[in-house]
Amino acid sequence: MIDRAIPLLYLAAAVSFILALMWLSAVATARRGVLVGVAGMALAVCGTLLRPEIVNYRWIAAAFVAGTVIGVPMAMMPMTAVPQRTALSHAFGALAAALVGTAEYYLRAPGIDRFTMGALSIEVLLGFLTFTASLMAFGKLQEVLPTRPITYRNQNVLNLSLFGLAAGAGAYLVVRPDTAWLFPLFIAMALLFGVLLILPIGGADMPTVISLLNSYAGLSAAAMGFVLNNKLLIIAGALDGSSGFILSVIMCRAMNRSFTNVLFGAFGQVQAGAASEPERRTARSATPEEAVDILRAASRVIVVPGYGMAVAQAQHKVRELYDALTKAGVDVKFAIHPVAGRMPGHMNVLLAEADIPYDKLMEMDDVNSEFSQTDVALVIGANDVTNPAARHDRGSPIYGMPILDVDKARTVMVVKRSMSPGFAGIDNELYYMDRTLMVFGDAKAVVGGIVKELAGAAG
Ligand code: NDP
Repeated sequence: MIDRAIPLLYLAAAVSFILALMWLSAVATARRGVLVGVAGMALAVCGTLLRPEIVNYRWIAAAFVAGTVIGVPMAMMPMTAVPQRTALSHAFGALAAALVGTAEYYLRAPGIDRFTMGALSIEVLLGFLTFTASLMAFGKLQEVLPTRPITYRNQNVLNLSLFGLAAGAGAYLVVRPDTAWLFPLFIAMALLFGVLLILPIGGADMPTVISLLNSYAGLSAAAMGFVLNNKLLIIAGALDGSSGFILSVIMCRAMNRSFTNVLFGAFGQVQAGAASEPERRTARSATPEEAVDILRAASRVIVVPGYGMAVAQAQHKVRELYDALTKAGVDVKFAIHPVAGRMPGHMNVLLAEADIPYDKLMEMDDVNSEFSQTDVALVIGANDVTNPAARHDRGSPIYGMPILDVDKARTVMVVKRSMSPGFAGIDNELYYMDRTLMVFGDAKAVVGGIVKELAGAAG
């Protein structure tokens, strides 16, 4: 009976994961996708708990309690901390796979067959390197480590050589699994490679690396499925690995990076000459009242939301602004940069939460040609994704990243609290343009003030 239940539970779990991925790819169905994914994971866990190999539930229960105690507060983090939290999830997922692989090696070597040892080598290599790489990514995103790329001479040669040595050790263990002294060295090289892989990456390139680590953790889990002969792990790991990989490719395209650069950790480097002294330039500021006058005179407005809108939780005020301007006959659209905020789709999620119609949200490639015919580009808490330096300044760490062409609008209004830089830590030349007005303040307060003024004027 139980023998028959387990494959059925696994099959239902696998179908749930596929449906979850399908539904997660559109904002309208994403909530359903999350619920089905959770249900699928619950089925997978139940199926695994029924397996006859489990003779004692005591340690499993202890791990369940410990995981819940750590996991629930982690899930309560603010949305702006989701990338760091995701990096930690990848770290722990990959560590779990790597530790299972290590335990299997010591249980089964030297008699382990070559195919299993091959899968085990991949599992351990990817698992341990993803563990340290994800911890490094967490440190950079949480800003407990320097967020800028750290580079040094011959870095790529060193990284590639270390990876080559680690892969070579893994391959040698496939041929000679009895070489027990090599296994800890193999692990150490994988752990070190993970650290070195992330050092030269930073600033605007972090989103790509997070999705790439997602892919590595998934591939490690898929390899673990082959080691343990568990089909569900193979399916779930392959789905995780391939979806992370596809997302990495999409992010690479969005960031104008070649995928080879990402794979070898050679991107995000600051070019020589980038560290020039900042020039003393002046920016023009405006009050919310002045901003209202300009908005009222406009017929086309494009709102550009960014990380600051998320920090201020200003999305509902932005919705009120959309309603007020639309009522006043202004054509309002939203320009969404693929890496605005701190996670892929961050702006879409916030604007959907505020019930802004989906058809008003425009992707970067579709909206960029419209800025030149726009009266006001209203930038709310966005910075790096609007920096024109990405187009022409070869010394800039964000050089080559496609940006929203807000500088082409007739007037640019930027709502932020100060002249502080964004995630990439660099000044934004947009703020010093003749056509740019800075409206300083917290995004929620400023947008709220504008809405009030607009309502007062209308009444
Ligand atoms: P940025 O991080 O470039 O800038 C955000 C701006 O928001 C800051 O300059 C800040 O200025 C302002 N801000 C912060 N709090 C408030 C507030 N309460 N009210 C008003 N403004 C506020 O954001 P972008 O969205 O433009 O760009 C995202 C950056 O993050 C990119 O570099 C991207 O590569 C990176 N990244 C993106 C990830 C993703 O997947 N989307 C993941 C990891 C990194 P001030 O302090 O003066 O108010």
